[in-house]
Amino acid sequence: MRIVFLGTSSAVPTVQRGLSSLALLRDGELLLFDAGEGMQRNFIKAGIGMNRKMKVFITHMHADHCVGLLGLLQTMSLLGRDKRLDIYGQPRLKEFLLENMRIISFGLTFEVAIHTIEGEGVVVKEEDYCISCCEAKHSIPAISYRLDEFDRPGLFDLEAVKKAGIPEGELYGQLQRGQDIEYNGGTIKSADVVGPPRPGRKIGISGDTRPTDKLAGFFDSCDILVYESTYSHDKLEIAIETFHSTATEAATIAKKARVKKLYLTHFSARYDETSQLVSEAQAIHGNVEATDDLKTVDIPYQT
Ligand SMILES: [Zn+2]
Ligand SMILES: [Zn+2]
Repeated sequence: MRIVFLGTSSAVPTVQRGLSSLALLRDGELLLFDAGEGMQRNFIKAGIGMNRKMKVFITHMHADHCVGLLGLLQTMSLLGRDKRLDIYGQPRLKEFLLENMRIISFGLTFEVAIHTIEGEGVVVKEEDYCISCCEAKHSIPAISYRLDEFDRPGLFDLEAVKKAGIPEGELYGQLQRGQDIEYNGGTIKSADVVGPPRPGRKIGISGDTRPTDKLAGFFDSCDILVYESTYSHDKLEIAIETFHSTATEAATIAKKARVKKLYLTHFSARYDETSQLVSEAQAIHGNVEATDDLKTVDIPYQT
């Protein structure tokens, strides 16, 4: 699994940072979270590819999080995308996309399915992962997302079953599914030849929000939390006024949620560099990093 930060600035782009967008690549699929204006340049720079299996999730309808989707759709069409694209967001997203596509006379080369999210809970459930959402607290309706990979079965001790003389086939399957088997007059316990389930990875993505207890619960035990850190804590008043979070608040919610690693993002254009924000967050949470445009993070399975 890999995360590529495509845009890490809030509200306005800077020389160094584009508007919000994050690409999460896993098992050949791209999950794109937010698409601020101009994000497609970093999308191309990152070499992600315009015709891959892909889903898009939008946190809220502020321009710096969704306007880039139009340009991305158009570029994908110009490059001849032929794979269906699934887009998820609040009711206004569908309205925004359909109206703009009508006015601009988009000719899409691929099918787009726009899914409207009305409440909280599971948004997408696939064979090996799900994505759910939770209400955020912003100046307009906004949601945060969380990806949970399902636990994988434990490792099968092939050597042990071979040693016990068990023939390959259905009996292997039964053991792997957790069933004990009778063989050669004795019992072979599944637990003796199959290790404990291996935990899937859990990723939280805040979008724009004030910190809330509800979100602390929603992000519980994430391996990675990408959380907005628009301001340093000396600007708490502005953060409250504009419904954003400070780096201190990002670290506090990460600690409360027992998150393993916190990535700060969505920085106000006033910060040329982010060391002040990282330091104040590190005073609270032991594992914090700032994001930059095109920063890439590989996330191995946790052991
Ligand atoms: Zn924003
Ligand atoms: Zn916003």
